[in-house]
Amino acid sequence: MSELETISMHVITSAEEICAVVLAAKSSGQSVGFVPTMGALHEGHLSLVDASLAECDLTVVSIFVNPTQFSPEEDLEKYPRPLQRDLQLLTERGCEIVFVPTAAEMYPEGVESTVEVGSVASPFEGASRPHHFQGVATVVSKLFQVVPADRAYFGRKDYQQALVVVQLIEDFNLPITMRVCPIVREPDGLAMSSRNTYLRPEQRQQASALWQSLRIAEQAHAAGETDVAAIKKKMMQHLNSAGIENVDYIAFVTDGTVQEVETVAGPTVVAIAARLGKSRLIDNHTIG
Ligand code: AMP
Repeated sequence: MSELETISMHVITSAEEICAVVLAAKSSGQSVGFVPTMGALHEGHLSLVDASLAECDLTVVSIFVNPTQFSPEEDLEKYPRPLQRDLQLLTERGCEIVFVPTAAEMYPEGVESTVEVGSVASPFEGASRPHHFQGVATVVSKLFQVVPADRAYFGRKDYQQALVVVQLIEDFNLPITMRVCPIVREPDGLAMSSRNTYLRPEQRQQASALWQSLRIAEQAHAAGETDVAAIKKKMMQHLNSAGIENVDYIAFVTDGTVQEVETVAGPTVVAIAARLGKSRLIDNHTIG
């Protein structure tokens, strides 16, 4: 018996079949929510599932570790894939339909087209991870075709990714409504992430300094500081004192954009990416 057959829920591996299920539900008047994930589910993912279950008649979750958004030196091979556990969590949550395609189902031989998103994909994550957003935009476009849902649920944890998907939906007139849900954190503030499992115990302790540095930015602004360079300096001092030296970027952008600001003059997203050993963590927080 295969791993998938041991779970009593509707696990679909065929693009054609999931599309038929979603279209049938819609034609019978049901609203459909879609939560794309790469699996190794945690409460961050499950909060998106909850949001969809609360708002839609039918919720489809996809689990697909998309190879095209990883560059060759990244963690595609070792990315966690605890499928049985994921399906169990989704069953407990009340989600009945899970789309788990193989790489060959999503990218059959001969596929050549890719989707390039414009300037929103260039800085920050786009600069640190070339081709990452091309892979994301391509797989999201394909997933939206095969799961033609009414609403898609993404997390604000991946702030720039959410902007990329919004751009994609607008530019291609995709008939789906985007919902961006709040970041779910561990008790010490670390943003939940499937990649947190890579952290060794001492790195896991250090990792909470990312959230602390975002809170430092918030507190500095609340105390009257508006100069971004001065706030960044405080954040960097905190990160360094926690032993985090390898900071990819700290960026202050106008909320809803990737436009950097030098002064905090309104709702501003502070985004950060840092490496702890071989793990790369991202987080963000809105201030102002
Ligand atoms: P991933 O499996 O990492 O591709 O993430 C799937 C979705 O879950 C994306 O929309 C993420 O932004 C979202 N997500 C991941 N971590 C969190 C979190 N801690 N809080 C809220 N959403 C999250």
